[in-house]
Amino acid sequence: MSYQWEARWVRKKLEFYGFSIDVCIDESTGLIACPVCIDVDKLCPPGRVTNLQPPEGVAYFYTAEDLLNHLRAHGEDFWGKERRRRAEVEEFEEHEEESEEEDEG
Ligand SMILES: [Zn+2]
Repeated sequence: MSYQWEARWVRKKLEFYGFSIDVCIDESTGLIACPVCIDVDKLCPPGRVTNLQPPEGVAYFYTAEDLLNHLRAHGEDFWGKERRRRAEVEEFEEHEEESEEEDEG
């Protein structure tokens, strides 16, 4: 017997201690899918709601705390990826420029 529920996956940013990660949350149950166990871009592409049935073996949590504990268990799978991603983001932001156009007349 497998769980069949009408999932509504939405993309959310979870705030942890000093960083944030993108996760998929099921609006109908409030369950958070582990972003390492599944591909968040597939389960909940940005700006879209899906009702995909996620593969078996994915961990779900009701609270960010529980998810965080689970992410610790993933170890380098998660934290190594996160570090690389943040390094890329910081590099990108250095080149950010403000562009303001004002016309006065
Ligand atoms: Zn996981």
